[in-house]
Amino acid sequence: MNENLSKSKYCKGIQCKKILWLDKYKPDEKVDTARKSALENGSRIGILAKGLFAKYEDIPYSEDLSLMIKKTNELLKDKPNIITEASFGYNHNFCSVDILKNDIDGVEIYEVKSSSDISQIYYDDVFYQYYVLTNLGLNVKKASIVYINKNYIRHGALDIHKLFNIEDVTDLAKSNLPNIKNNIDDINNFINKYNKDNEPEVPLSISCFEPYLCSYWQYCTKALPKPNVFDIAKMKTINKLKYYNLGLIRFDDFKNTDINPKYLEQINFELENLEPKINKEAIKNLMDSLKYPLYFIDYETFQLAVPEYEGTKPYQQLPFQYSLHIIRDEDAKTIEHKEFLAQIDDKDFLRHFAQSMIKDIPDNGSVIIYNNSFEPSRNRELARMFPDLADELNRINSQIVDFLVPFRRRDYYMKEFEGSYSIKKVLPALYPDDSELDYHSLPVVHNGEEASDTFLSLKGKSKEEQETLRNGLLVYCKLDTLAMVKICEKFKEILNK
Ligand code: SF4
Repeated sequence: MNENLSKSKYCKGIQCKKILWLDKYKPDEKVDTARKSALENGSRIGILAKGLFAKYEDIPYSEDLSLMIKKTNELLKDKPNIITEASFGYNHNFCSVDILKNDIDGVEIYEVKSSSDISQIYYDDVFYQYYVLTNLGLNVKKASIVYINKNYIRHGALDIHKLFNIEDVTDLAKSNLPNIKNNIDDINNFINKYNKDNEPEVPLSISCFEPYLCSYWQYCTKALPKPNVFDIAKMKTINKLKYYNLGLIRFDDFKNTDINPKYLEQINFELENLEPKINKEAIKNLMDSLKYPLYFIDYETFQLAVPEYEGTKPYQQLPFQYSLHIIRDEDAKTIEHKEFLAQIDDKDFLRHFAQSMIKDIPDNGSVIIYNNSFEPSRNRELARMFPDLADELNRINSQIVDFLVPFRRRDYYMKEFEGSYSIKKVLPALYPDDSELDYHSLPVVHNGEEASDTFLSLKGKSKEEQETLRNGLLVYCKLDTLAMVKICEKFKEILNK
């Protein structure tokens, strides 16, 4: 007797059938990485998309799926109409359709995704629904995926017809029908074969990473030696798997192989416990390019699937905070600090962010950042939104010096970086005993994702609660720029040796 399958179980089974076994028998091993903001974005998109075809009737969620199916059957008789969460069951296969257009001569399926790209798993999701509905004898005229149009720029009221793209996948769904049946049979056979005391052995594969990093990755790799091939930084996953399958797993296994030198360097530093590698000439060139005053700046941003602010796009990185350390001249005894943190209810916070930064950074020095692909892009976006500030924002971009470069180029490398050049790895390696520079000891916010979630959580909080969280944001961002100041000190120290 087969268990009930749902579209989410089916999609998990497509990724890896063992996920279904682990969900059932070892759910505590799951490491859930879903972010609150991503879930909120998803539910907001789902609600908005329901309005794409005007008036609709919603099937409320019930633990008892038969109630949802019964209510759907009642509404199906009232055609033409639009039903959201229309629910169907065929031979132990259950699905709810995000939006069902129920016409006189058949139905149309619309699966809503909060992503701005379509991935294979979205097709699988729709194909499963197509399979269930056609087997119930419904004439499915059309099956489509509704997803975010990343090029939509909001001007005035939100236009949901421009916010969403719709891709017709009917022909693909039709041609895939036999595969869906086979997949369902495979999944059911697997579920029936492995019980609680019979854990399936499934080899690591690309399915562990795609379409999502599997929540059971840590469980399935707990027996691997540390460090292992999956700890090699910046190597493509597909190549890590290739080496893994060849039996190259421990760092030791890579000795005398023709692996790319940049990976070999990380491995050798680890195995041989090598001393730091420093290219003094490159550090000197970087430091010589600096002009005082030095402005060390770092932004925090958040993203919204649905653009709430005039002139913004879906998922645009919206800067709401910066920290700025300033060193006026080479002999400066003190380091100044300035900062900006938007008010959560300020609809014009992007403009205020840009204006404040322009005021704080005049045209007379170097602007030091860590990662040249981030802050300059935000400045260009702000320049597009506020043409009257564009010259000044472009001017700030022209003053930028990127402190990440010597680490990315491995002009400065230490074993402790573990192949990474993230500031969160670099800083503790350069200053291992300085507790003031320890991100773990911060009170509220410890990384960029937490910063954006914390900022968005300010809405509706009491004044006291807001103050605590805002303080957490301020100390976190301040550490990011202090980190760059400390890196600068380290560079000076090296040059003075
Ligand atoms: S980590 Fe890989 S093998 Fe383990 S359950 Fe996930 S996808 Fe399957």
